[in-house]
Amino acid sequence: MNLKRLRRELRKLDAGIVASERDGCVLLEGEVDDYATAFAAGKLAVDKDRYLGVLNDIKVRGFEQKVSLPAESDHSLDGVKCDVLVIGGGITGCAVARELRRHQLSVLLVEKGPDVASGQSSRNGGVVHVGVNFSKGSQKLRYCVRGNAMYRKLAHDLHVPYENKGQVTFARTKVEMLALEYVHRTALDKGVVGTKVMDRDELRKVEPSVPEWSVGGLFMGTGGITSPYLMTIALAENAVENGATVALNTAVLDMKVKDGLIVEVSTNRGTIRPKAVVNAAGVYADVIAQMADDRTFTIHPRVGTNIVMDKKAGWMVNTSMGKTPFTLTPKQLEDVPADLFSRAKAMVASASSHTKGIALIHTVDGNVLVGPNADEVPDREDTSTSREVVEKILRSQQEVQGAVSASDIIAYFTGVRSPTYEEDFVVRPGIRTRNVFEAAGIQSPGLTAAPAIAVDIASWVCDYLSDAMDVLSNKSFNPVRQASPVLAGLSLEERDLLVHENPDYGEIVCRCEEISKGEILDVLRSPLPVYTVDAVKRRCRPGMGRCQGAFCLPAVMRIIADEAGIAYQDVVKGDSRARIVFGPTKEGKGTLL
Ligand SMILES: Cc1cc2nc3c(=O)[nH]c(=O)nc-3n(C[C@H](O)[C@H](O)[C@H](O)COP(=O)(O)OP(=O)(O)OC[C@H]3O[C@@H](n4cnc5c(N)ncnc54)[C@H](O)[C@@H]3O)c2cc1C
Repeated sequence: MNLKRLRRELRKLDAGIVASERDGCVLLEGEVDDYATAFAAGKLAVDKDRYLGVLNDIKVRGFEQKVSLPAESDHSLDGVKCDVLVIGGGITGCAVARELRRHQLSVLLVEKGPDVASGQSSRNGGVVHVGVNFSKGSQKLRYCVRGNAMYRKLAHDLHVPYENKGQVTFARTKVEMLALEYVHRTALDKGVVGTKVMDRDELRKVEPSVPEWSVGGLFMGTGGITSPYLMTIALAENAVENGATVALNTAVLDMKVKDGLIVEVSTNRGTIRPKAVVNAAGVYADVIAQMADDRTFTIHPRVGTNIVMDKKAGWMVNTSMGKTPFTLTPKQLEDVPADLFSRAKAMVASASSHTKGIALIHTVDGNVLVGPNADEVPDREDTSTSREVVEKILRSQQEVQGAVSASDIIAYFTGVRSPTYEEDFVVRPGIRTRNVFEAAGIQSPGLTAAPAIAVDIASWVCDYLSDAMDVLSNKSFNPVRQASPVLAGLSLEERDLLVHENPDYGEIVCRCEEISKGEILDVLRSPLPVYTVDAVKRRCRPGMGRCQGAFCLPAVMRIIADEAGIAYQDVVKGDSRARIVFGPTKEGKGTLL
């Protein structure tokens, strides 16, 4: 809507919000009492035809974003020059860093967290999405379809688990079946292959857990699952194997932009001088874009909780399955022309544009994930969980799989998505600043899309740099990551052989997940070693099983301490401030393991 109309609509919120136009965007300013009003104003201001995006600078009284920053600060990166600086070690940044190393460019990735995948890349469902629910012409659709097609080879090259069992959406009624038929017919037009509408009996062959109430559904054959954090770690490790540098605990704090170019980037480890900068900062991508004088969007945090079920619940789902995302109620349906086609079309149109709905997912590790919800919150780092949300998700999924039970829960976690008000990715070269490249607004299906986004960003960066230097291809680039053995996946004979070669593989540390000391040492000797309990847990799973680390934690800490050459009490959970033990008990006479 034009500014005049927008101002009229904003007046209805009665909150004194001011709208103006700035650099091709809508700028919203003011101070309001609650976040819901600020969010509603942002949504009202969206007009993709007229404006580049919404700049929502409305303040919420009593709320101030607390940014978690590394405890460390030194001068280790002071004066460092590089061809490309990648900001953010989520799946997008790590994929971009790896892709850039196909060329002879010096690549430095900085991540403010203590490990890669510190943001939403470790807190998602791991679904390699199909794309049917994204609108034609959107960046989400384009990159989802391309990324999906790249996954099998990528996972194979990087030795990351990936399964392609498909996705299933169950229909409750004939109208919903027809709506799914409509989705299926439009899928090809969107570039999505492998979808099929199936009746109950056919569906049961791919997903034995068809609910009683379902008359059939849509099977989407290109749907897959992976381990999101392992994929991110593997991309980072392979980038490092190919010559990229990754600096953890390194936060970008400011930038100096001169004549449309970023000339300096300040961090807690000194000032870096890059020729080009890639913004892959997740929930802070708009803050980084602002520093780069290239902001045309605002990130509004949207949280989602996932529940992890014990492996014994693994039988409950074979694929990734869920109800239709249609929100039209029978009452609302009465207002639509009575023919089935009109009703099916209206159903499809009612599907939420920003969430694919709660689902049940069979993970690559054999657990079941239930979730996630999608709630708007003011805090970009709000990863809290609540009993109410967990119960709501469980109730919702019990409709799909009656056997879902709270007694199978072993953990739950919350991730914060990074959507823009326009609900699309912002993947583009800078508009006002020539040497910045945006990979922003990467909400779901960002895990799926990242490999394809990386190809485009790397190509734009190379084009830009080649104006001033030779950008040669890196002939020694090896897309295959070195793999370490995973004992739980080996036959007894294979294990025996390995244990004879290296007895550390015979020392089981985590009994739930059958993880040996040898495997823990492998991750601590990887191309990107991170000496924390969380990093080891993510890379090889001690602590991920039923007991959640109650038995193996002390032993894991001992191995980390010995390998890193640090004191036992200096082994931390993740962040260097997250201490686990403080010293011997019994007035100093007790012992540490
Ligand atoms: C609950 C949930 C479920 C999801 N499910 C799926 C799914 O099943 N399939 C799918 O395809 N997608 C899914 N997604 C979306 C997917 O997780 C994201 O799109 C993807 O992880 C985005 O990756 P990213 O690298 O862009 O952002 P992030 O992973 O958030 O990485 C950004 C990084 O930048 C760092 N950073 C920020 N500011 C600075 C700074 N100033 N200096 C240095 N570093 C900085 C952060 O610490 C962070 O590590 C889900 C997301 C959520 C939250």
